Amino acid sequence: MSMTEETTPAVGIDLGTTYSAVAYLDETGRPITLVNAEGDLVTPSVVLFEGNQAVVGKEALKAIATEAEHVAQCAKRELGERTFHKNLQGRKYPPEALQAFVLNKLRQDATRQIGDFRKVVITVPAYFDEVRRKATQDAGYMAGFEVLDIINEPTAAAIAHGFLKGFLNRKGESNAPRKLLVYDLGGGTFDVTVMEIRGREFLALATDGDVQLGGQDWDQRLIDYVAEEFIRTYQLDPREDPNTAGRLWRECEDAKRTLSARGKVSISCDYKSQAVRVEVTREKFEEITQDLLNRTQFTTKQTLQAAGLSWSDLDYVLLVGGSTRMPMVAKMLRTMSGKEPDASVAVDEAVAHGAALHAGILLAKSRGEIPLVNITNVNSHSLGVVATDTRTERKRNAILIPRNTTLPVTAKRVFRTQKAGQKSILVRIVEGESASPEDCSQIGKCVVRDLPPDLPAQTPIDVRFQYQENGRLTVQVSVANTSRELKHEITRENSLTAEQLEAWRLYVTGQPVSDPEPSGIADDLTIVIEEDE
Ligand code: AMP
Repeated sequence: MSMTEETTPAVGIDLGTTYSAVAYLDETGRPITLVNAEGDLVTPSVVLFEGNQAVVGKEALKAIATEAEHVAQCAKRELGERTFHKNLQGRKYPPEALQAFVLNKLRQDATRQIGDFRKVVITVPAYFDEVRRKATQDAGYMAGFEVLDIINEPTAAAIAHGFLKGFLNRKGESNAPRKLLVYDLGGGTFDVTVMEIRGREFLALATDGDVQLGGQDWDQRLIDYVAEEFIRTYQLDPREDPNTAGRLWRECEDAKRTLSARGKVSISCDYKSQAVRVEVTREKFEEITQDLLNRTQFTTKQTLQAAGLSWSDLDYVLLVGGSTRMPMVAKMLRTMSGKEPDASVAVDEAVAHGAALHAGILLAKSRGEIPLVNITNVNSHSLGVVATDTRTERKRNAILIPRNTTLPVTAKRVFRTQKAGQKSILVRIVEGESASPEDCSQIGKCVVRDLPPDLPAQTPIDVRFQYQENGRLTVQVSVANTSRELKHEITRENSLTAEQLEAWRLYVTGQPVSDPEPSGIADDLTIVIEEDE
C-alpha cells in the first residue's frame, strides 16, 4: 500500500550522543515512545562492526568490554570532522555515516511497530553549529529517511513539556506568556536555552552550551579515580588496555547511576590478574566532578543574562537529559534559581516527544491545516566575514549576524575594495565570537572574479547574509557601480558529496551496493561562486 500524507505517521528522533529515542504520535495526537527490538525505550548510540555487519545498540555497548577496537561510540561529538578518529576494521568512516547506522536501526525497529515510514524530525543540541546540523541531516538521509526538519533539543523538550503539562490549550496556545529555562545535560553534550512561549509562538531567547561536556565526563572522573587507586596498589594502569578500559567504563557508568539513587557504591576493577575494589560515596563523587558542574552553572548564568532575564522572571526550570538524574544537578539549580527544577516529563523521552509533536505540526501544515504551534529559533553562533581593518592592517571577524538573533534574518554590511584595479574579491565566511578569524571556524568562501579593470580603491561591496530557520545560509555579494553580483548558498567544507551520500545510503540501509569508499571522503571544497543571472 502506498503511503499518503494522511497515513504518514509523525515520528521524532532524539539522536543522542550516548542514547537515542524514537517517538510517534498516536491516533489521538499524543506522543508515545517506541520501544526498540530489545524492548527498551532508549537505544545506545553505539555501533559494533562485525565482518560486513553493523550491530547497533545494547549488544554493541556490551562489546566495548571485549571488542573495543571494533566499536564506535560518541560519533555525535565528532560530527563536522571529516572522519571518525578511529579506524574500524581498517576503514575510515565519516561520523555522520556512523550516526546513520544508529538511525537505520531506529528506523527498522520503529517500522516493526508503526509500519513503513520515511518522514522524520531529528533533534540536535541548540549549540550545534551549521556544519553539525547539516551532518545530522545527511545522517538521516543515509539511513533512508526524509528529514522534515532538524530542531533544537531544548525547543523539542519545551514543546513536549507544554503539551504534557497542559499549559498549551487544545489549540496549542499557551494561556499566558511562559518563560522557561531548559537545562539539558545528556551523555556527551550540554545545552542551556531560555525560551518564551507566547500564544502559539515558541521563541528561543538565548542559547549556549558545550558540545564537549556530558555524562561521559562524569564517568571519566570515576574511571580515573579507580585507575589511580589501581596504579597506587599495583603500579599498573588498567586504562592502557582497551577492553579493560571498556569494562571499567561500563562499571563506572553503572556506579554513577547507582549514586543517583544511593549514598555510596563499590566499583571493582581487575587487570592482569590483579584486582581492586573502590568505595565511592556520593559526596566524593560530587567533589571530584564539582568543576564539571560549575561549568554548566557558569553557562546557565550567562545564558539567562544573555536573554535579559533574572531567575524571578522564569516560570519553569526544565530538566532534560539522562545526566540530570544526578542529584547534584537539581541541587545546584535549586540553590541558584530558588525554584524547584521540573523533571515531570521523563528526562530521556521529552526530546523525542517534542520532535514527534513537531513532525505532527509539519505534516499538518503540508496537508494545509493550521499548525498548532510556531517555532522561532535563534542562531547559536555569530556569522561574519573576514575583513582587513585598514587602520591596523589586521584581519578581523566582521560580524553580520550576532549570536542569539531571531531567525530568519537578513543582514547587510558594506565593505570596500582594498586597492585600485583589484581583480577579484575573496569573501571568507566565518562562524564564531572572536574578533580574530583564526579563532573562528571558516564555513565557506566565495570569490567574485573579473572585476572591471579600472575599479577604484575603496569601491563599496555589499555583503548580504540571509539565514533561514533551517540553518541554510545564503550569501550575496554585490560590487557598487558594476554588474558583478553573486549569490550562493553556502556548502559546508567537510560535507559529503551527493554521490557519496547516495552510496552511503545504499550501504547503511543494507541494499546490495558497491563499497562506498572508492569515491573517497570529500576534499575541502573551495566555493567558487557562479554568477547570478
Ligand atoms: P541522554 O543522552 O540524555 O540519554 O543521557 C545519557 C546520559 O545520562 C549518560 O551519560 C548516562 O550515563 C546518564 N544517566 C542516565 N541515567 C542516569 C542516572 N540515573 N544517574 C546519572 N546519570 C544517568
